[in-house]
Amino acid sequence: MENTAEAITGERRTSEHLDTDEQRAFRLRAREYMAANLPPRIPGQPANSFEDLELVALDREIQRKLYDGGLGGYAGITVPEEYGGLGLDRRFEDIFFEEAEPYRLPWHYGNAVVIVLPCLLAHGTEEQKKKYIPKILSGEHLWAQLLSEPSGGSDLAGVLTRAEKRGDEWVLNGSKVWTSGGHVSDMGLCLARTDPTVRKHAGLTMFLVDMHQPGMSVHPIRLVRGGSDFCQEFLDDVIVPDGDVLGEVNDGWTVARTQLNSERAGMARGWHYGLRRAEASEHIVISSRYKRLAEELGVVDDVDARQLIGEAIVLDAVYDLTSKRAAAGMRSGALPATIGMVTSLLSARTSIDRTALMSALAGPAGVVAAPGSDGPDIGLDRVVTHRIGGGTLEMQLNLVSERHLGLPREPSFDRDVPFNQIKHNATPKLAG
Ligand SMILES: Cc1cc2nc3c(=O)[nH]c(=O)nc-3n(C[C@H](O)[C@H](O)[C@H](O)COP(=O)(O)OP(=O)(O)OC[C@H]3O[C@@H](n4cnc5c(N)ncnc54)[C@H](O)[C@@H]3O)c2cc1C
Repeated sequence: MENTAEAITGERRTSEHLDTDEQRAFRLRAREYMAANLPPRIPGQPANSFEDLELVALDREIQRKLYDGGLGGYAGITVPEEYGGLGLDRRFEDIFFEEAEPYRLPWHYGNAVVIVLPCLLAHGTEEQKKKYIPKILSGEHLWAQLLSEPSGGSDLAGVLTRAEKRGDEWVLNGSKVWTSGGHVSDMGLCLARTDPTVRKHAGLTMFLVDMHQPGMSVHPIRLVRGGSDFCQEFLDDVIVPDGDVLGEVNDGWTVARTQLNSERAGMARGWHYGLRRAEASEHIVISSRYKRLAEELGVVDDVDARQLIGEAIVLDAVYDLTSKRAAAGMRSGALPATIGMVTSLLSARTSIDRTALMSALAGPAGVVAAPGSDGPDIGLDRVVTHRIGGGTLEMQLNLVSERHLGLPREPSFDRDVPFNQIKHNATPKLAG
């Protein structure tokens, strides 16, 4: 209990007073089961960093326990019963997360439950849903997103990995990169080109790919700070049965949009990977993190340092309240689903501003510090995550301006050109 939010605040806010009898019974069952089976949430412990293989193994165990304990697995509460979930409404999911706040949740399943699961529900065949969803909820399958390629990630519709039909199988060749957790994943959602003779968005297909097969070589990318969170994959005649095409052949772009929207919606709901919700509602934990940093640096009584810490706390509060408002608005229908783009953008902005403040506070010490080292953690790695992961800040700005504000589209010169007629890596002619 020592390390939990409850121990720091002395209280934990829940919405118990709103419970119906059925919800109350669910809450008590969840509370009792979690207390007996889940490890405590430890502030500062990495959430879904794939660098720590022991944590990944722990999360597999926790996901299994949640499923075995009749709680539907992490986020399986609203999933229909025929696919292994509990078939309950969102209110039960909120209760689950309220009760889970003091505990570690299996955050490494974030990709699977926040991104892949909605894609399977929206575009999967009955067979695919019955085969794959229970394996996510029971902890058997961790999933990776195989989207970005060495040739670029922002222009997602420009993927070069190709898939050819041979009999009742597809054969995939190409390379994917920056795959979070590729080295520990069992399955991947892979976008590949199936028809290069049509415009780039039209010739794509989404595949459910078994990561443990001979043609799939997964190479962890060693980061400057030491560990490996991401991978590059080389696909050499990777085989996918025809039954594992997700959505229609040549309509992979529709699935990819669901995939990207699900990630943004998860952020907007404020519990992206299940962590944000727990952290966001506990300002006290966040402020205690800044306080710890100030103590480490010996600047607790410094007026300027206190000003910076104050700004960082206000920034977190603005993000927290905005994401809660967006979540409530999306749920009630008062705000459009595109509000998720705004929250996602705000999340990136907040993270950048917060790290700038922390860097100012840490001074030169922040430059040499790395997570896991003795120096202060000012969150540089979180900036990379929010600045680039899930789409860069610039692409998010484009999305908000075009889709949310209805401003004119960015000019595109290859949108309507057949993919095999687009020039790749063409050297521009220099003037003069
Ligand atoms: C933490 C993290 C996790 C990730 N996880 C995954 C994963 O699991 N699976 C996966 O497939 N990928 C993943 N990625 C990759 C990520 O999606 C890509 O890095 C991102 O989409 C950008 O692609 P890129 O790096 O190729 O940059 P590029 O697309 O080459 O962009 C380079 C720069 O040009 C800018 N730019 C490009 N096009 C435009 C434009 N039209 N308008 C304005 N500016 C533009 C970009 O904003 C960027 O600053 C992850 C990345 C990070 C940082």
